[in-house]
Order: sequence, then C-alpha cells, then structure tokens
Amino acid sequence: WLARCFSTALSPVSEQEQQALSLIRNIGISAHIDSGKTTLTERILYYTGRIREIHEVRGKDGVGAKMDSMDLEREKGITIQSAATYCAWKDKQINIIDTPGHVDFTIEVERSLRVLDGAILVLCSVGGVQSQSITVDRQMKRYNVPRLVFVNKLDRAGANPWRCIDMARDKLKLNVAAVQIPIGLEEQHAGVVDLVGRKAFYFEGPKGEKVVEGPVPDRLAAEVESRRMELLEKVSEVDDLLAEKFLSEEPVGPEELRAAIRRATLALKFQPVFMGSAFKNKGVQLLLDGVLDYLPCPTEVVNEALDLARDEQRLVLPCAPGGPFVGLAFKLEEGKYGQLTYVRIYSGTLRKGDSVVNMSSNKKAGARPPGADVRVPRLVRMHANEMEDIGQAAAGDIVAVFGMDCASGDTLTDGVKLAMTSIRVPDPVMSLAL
Ligand code: GDP
Repeated sequence: WLARCFSTALSPVSEQEQQALSLIRNIGISAHIDSGKTTLTERILYYTGRIREIHEVRGKDGVGAKMDSMDLEREKGITIQSAATYCAWKDKQINIIDTPGHVDFTIEVERSLRVLDGAILVLCSVGGVQSQSITVDRQMKRYNVPRLVFVNKLDRAGANPWRCIDMARDKLKLNVAAVQIPIGLEEQHAGVVDLVGRKAFYFEGPKGEKVVEGPVPDRLAAEVESRRMELLEKVSEVDDLLAEKFLSEEPVGPEELRAAIRRATLALKFQPVFMGSAFKNKGVQLLLDGVLDYLPCPTEVVNEALDLARDEQRLVLPCAPGGPFVGLAFKLEEGKYGQLTYVRIYSGTLRKGDSVVNMSSNKKAGARPPGADVRVPRLVRMHANEMEDIGQAAAGDIVAVFGMDCASGDTLTDGVKLAMTSIRVPDPVMSLAL
C-alpha cells in the first residue's frame, strides 16, 4: 500500500478529477442561537430546489407566534436534521454538514468540524457578535476552517451591519471587510450592492427567488467606492499580489479582486462579509455564490491520516479518487429504515456492495473488532427530504451508508493501515511522510 500511496502522492489527482473536485463544497453553518441559522439553511434548500416550500419559523423576536417544537420538527422534516444534506447550486455541489450547537469542544462538535472544509458564520445584525458566536468562531479558528460571515436580519429595527463588522474585528479578532453594502435597512431593506463587481441586486418574486441585477443607485455610489476601498485595503494587508496592484494605484477589476479575496480567505487571513435577511428572502443566493467563490474545494484542504503501520506517524492524504479508499464514519443516525452512517470519503472510491475494513483501534463495546470486514450494502446521498441511491462516491464527497456496522469516529479503508485523525490537525505537515 505504501507504493500505492506513494504513486498517488506523485500524481495525486488527474486534471479531469481535479475539475470534478473543484465543483464540491463541504460546508457548515454556525451561529449564536436565534441568529437565523435554521431559516438560512431552509432558504438555501429552497433556492437550490431541494425543498418545495419554505416555512416561516416564527420565534421570539415578534415575527409571529412560535410553533411548538413538535410542529417545528415536522415542518423541518429530516431536512435540517440530517447530519449532511446535499444540494446543487449553479453547476456545483454543496454538502451542508450539521454542526451541533454545543458550546464546548465535545467530540461530536470536533468530528463535525473535522469533515467540513469551510463555514458560514451567521451574525444577527442587531445582536452582533454574541456569546456563542465567540465560541463557534473559536472552534473554527482552532481547526483552521476558512469562513464567510453572513450578517442576517437587515430588515429588523436597529439593524447595523457596520457595528457587526466592528464587533467581529474587536471580539473575534477577525480580519473582516464587507463585500456587499445594504440597499436600505430595516423596513427599507431591498437588496445589496456587490462591491466586487459594483452591481446592485434585488430579490423579487413571492419568495425572493428571482435575483434582479441593476446599476448601483446614485445615492450609494460614494459609499460603494469608500467601502470597496476598505475591502481592497484589508485584503491587500494579507495578500501580496493584490497589495502590489493596490499600492501602484492601478484599478483592480472584479475577477482580480475575487481571486485575491479567495486566496486570503483560504489562507485564513481574511473573512468576507455578506449581508441580507434570510427571513425576508434577501441575499441568500449571493451568499451561495460566495460559498462557491471563496470557500475551498476538497483538494484545497490538507487532510492528515495516521500511519498505523509506523507508530501512527502523520501523513498527508491526497484527495485522490484513484487512490486507496479511506473514509471516516462521522455520524450515526438511527432511522426508520435502520442505521444510517455518514461517511466523509478522503481518498479513493466507495462502491455499493464493497467490503471495507474498519481500521479504528478505538474498540467500543458492541462495535466489531478493528480490522473486521464491513459490508456496504446500500449507498445513498441525503437530499433535504429524500434520499437517492447511488452506485459509488469518490474522494471529497460525503455520503451515507445503510446497514453498515461501525461506530462514529471509525476509519474505514480498503485495507490500507491508515486512520484519520479524529479531529482536524491545526498544523498539518505539508509533505507526505514516507
Ligand atoms: P437559529 O436559532 O439560529 O436556527 O435561528 P432561527 O432560524 O430559528 O431564527 C430565529 C428567529 O429569527 C425566528 O423567529 C426567525 O423567524 C427569525 N429570523 C430569522 N432570520 C430573520 C431575518 O432575516 N429577519 C427577521 N426579522 N427575523 C429573522
């Protein structure tokens, strides 16, 4: 297997595979309670066509009467409950991984952070950075998760996205800058101006499904230029290529600026701020564009495994569909149809009917001993409220397996003696240690 690993390391991913992998995003959404994470997730599933209806999740800030939790569960269905939900935006695939709202570093939280490659931090434009925003951001920081910020609830009385940005700098110590400015706040909130391309966007139709593009309104022209300058400054501080251009006072075009924001975000040196109102159906589609533009695809993230044949030495596992199969069972769910195991595939390809080996040395009561063969009788992709049987899935993807016998946190392989580190390693070694 060393030889196999070595050969995949030399030419980890073919151009065609790289192209396919560049279309995948594995993301999490985290927030202080009541900031609108559920509403945002639901809107995302709606705009990506995964659910046909959106529900007004009503709560304490006066939008309406609160549904009881049973109603809420029913309304949300398995949608938001799933450990990972698949949706498609434009020509790309987004897997939304549920990050438990626990306030501390439980193993469950760490494991969910392990399998995502990027995240959206939702802030309430009235509450700003709140206690749990600090906790969840600390978790993201600890595991080097690149992130975007979404300032939500711009329609609410007292909405102030600029105060949120100041708070993110002061309290979260983030190098943030707005990539959008609002067109109107509170009841006047109508859309946003994208600072990168200098274009206004409005959201029309009964559920904001129609994104209408327009010129920057005259009254906002000066603000757009000054906020765009601030964005350029912040990104230039951490990106040499953009800094060169910025200092020579050359104009910076949209594509160039977008690429610089992407580099800075992936390098964890910058966090672009989006804004809108999930509840009023404003801004969500542009946030999805932002996920594609600025968050990493699976090959842009360094993943480490432990070499079980060599004293658990750490090595980088290339995200190669043609490599040996290595996956991590990160969540088990007991459903109507039996046990469902969510698996992030880190290397190789998993096929329905395969027999894989459970490499986990973490032998739990009731679990099968390490090294035992585990069958993959049925492989599915979880959509919002349905599941789709699939024949195979490859490195970079997240799928679920029915009827598989293993425990959460177990590494499954095709026999290679590797175990995934159960948490994301903060300082990954950069070369394959062979
Ligand atoms: P979570 O606890 O972060 O999942 O938050 P929810 O999505 O359940 O939202 C909490 C409350 O805020 C609910 O009453 C939502 O209807 C409301 N809410 C969510 N997004 C917005 C928004 O953009 N504007 C307003 N005014 N209310 C919102």
